[in-house]
Amino acid sequence: MLTVDEARARVLEVIHPIEPVESLVGDALEKVLADDLLASHPLPRFDNSAMDGYAVVAADVATASGSDPVVLELAGEVRAGQPADQEVLPGTAIRIMTGAPVPEGADAIVPVEDTEESGERVSVVAPTEPGRHVRPAGDDLASGDVLVRAGIELGPGELALLASTGMSPLRVRERPRVAILVTGDELVPPEATPGPGHIRDSNSVALRTLVTEAGGAPIPFPPIPDERESVVAEFRRAAKLADLVISSGGVAVGRYDFVKEVVEELGQIDLWRVAMQPGKPVVLGSVESTPFLGLPGNPVSIHVGFEQFVRPAIRKMRGCRFLLRPTIEARLTETIHKSPGRLHFVRVRLRFDGGEWFAAPTGGQGSHVQSSLVECSGVARFEREESELKAGSSVVVEVWKLPQVEA
Ligand code: AMP
Ligand code: MG
Repeated sequence: MLTVDEARARVLEVIHPIEPVESLVGDALEKVLADDLLASHPLPRFDNSAMDGYAVVAADVATASGSDPVVLELAGEVRAGQPADQEVLPGTAIRIMTGAPVPEGADAIVPVEDTEESGERVSVVAPTEPGRHVRPAGDDLASGDVLVRAGIELGPGELALLASTGMSPLRVRERPRVAILVTGDELVPPEATPGPGHIRDSNSVALRTLVTEAGGAPIPFPPIPDERESVVAEFRRAAKLADLVISSGGVAVGRYDFVKEVVEELGQIDLWRVAMQPGKPVVLGSVESTPFLGLPGNPVSIHVGFEQFVRPAIRKMRGCRFLLRPTIEARLTETIHKSPGRLHFVRVRLRFDGGEWFAAPTGGQGSHVQSSLVECSGVARFEREESELKAGSSVVVEVWKLPQVEA
């Protein structure tokens, strides 16, 4: 049986980025940049004032003070958005607004607060030095500097910089289409009252939201009964509509588990079963040349398998530079046991206390224990060969969500 890391490497080998498209910069939130973008001009483009005040020759007012002000002749005004068409000569000053271009001849800005204007004169009551309150051209970025690297998910900070530098439209990757197939005769919608032996279909909700959070566009399908012909028909339909097909259930060795054999018939299986718990019977393959990832039906297996394989696959399709969750080291709050052989993913709640992270297992760890996913921060890795982790020992936690803090 493959290890989780081996299996993930196989998944990422067969998954490829989708085609990029053009997007206006203002519409590109959470899209992934397809190219390294370089500045085509310096930023700021021109020397400009950081304050409302007066553009001066610094040497004129180097010794100005409240008791010995320097009086300059007011030679004009420059506002934001205007060219600076006058020169500042020694002994003169030009009134200037924040963001306005610094006129020729001036090498410092004296803030309004350090001046007193009367008629055609301005008294400066505090000293300055060359460069003070001037934002020089290229102070932020020089022409040719990297603005944002390919593979970065665009957030407000990146987008504003790309807007400032005229990078619109730009090439991005949007959400890959992910068809979600859940199988099982026992499934009824969350809104229905289950009959005898029925259960509510929670995996459709889990997978639809997990796909959305990972940056995919879910294509939901109604639950498929455990009949071979229905499984064939729905897998065919899904493969045509989607960039990736994922499924829940029907991949173990039960008599009515048809997913594996149907995938074999319609495409191929590249991998089956991974040395992990929960979620061992994972399938990687393709259906009519659309990549396919099948997860077992247990609700916790869905989450854990999704995190280990589907999320990195979706991120690779989006062209993301970083595919995996961050990990942190935390101190385990209680002793836990297992038998050696498989990597266990222990759901934990993280808490930061006294400069350290603590990881508390979220109760029962069976693959059907859905309450273990409530307020869950991620999973602690309980490695294959290990059988005991003592309270107080250090564990590696794959972080899904850091807890927020109280006001
Ligand atoms: P399977 O992998 O099909 O053998 O299913 C394993 C377990 O997961 C069974 O207890 C199923 O009832 C349960 N299960 C399968 N599909 C779903 C679903 N869509 N929502 C909730 N539980 C499910
Ligand atoms: Mg089933």
